Amino acid sequence: MIINELAEVIMDATNVVITVCVRCPYCGEQFDTTVDLSAGDQRYIEDCYVCCQPIEFSAALDHNGELGSLEARRDNE
Ligand SMILES: [Zn+2]
Repeated sequence: MIINELAEVIMDATNVVITVCVRCPYCGEQFDTTVDLSAGDQRYIEDCYVCCQPIEFSAALDHNGELGSLEARRDNE
């Protein structure tokens, strides 16, 4: 599942943290997660706040340093 729904962008001198609306691959509920773009391409696990299942996020930056895609998948896939 590819998410490209950018909800909010927060920038300051050192951090570029964006809030992205994602859909849980387990229960299908939508919630907001934050991605720190200054960390580059990244993979991290965050528990769904609804069903508490571990969701694996893969964030990929585009050539402008902006979020190109954010993938949310089940941890065991
Ligand atoms: Zn869930």
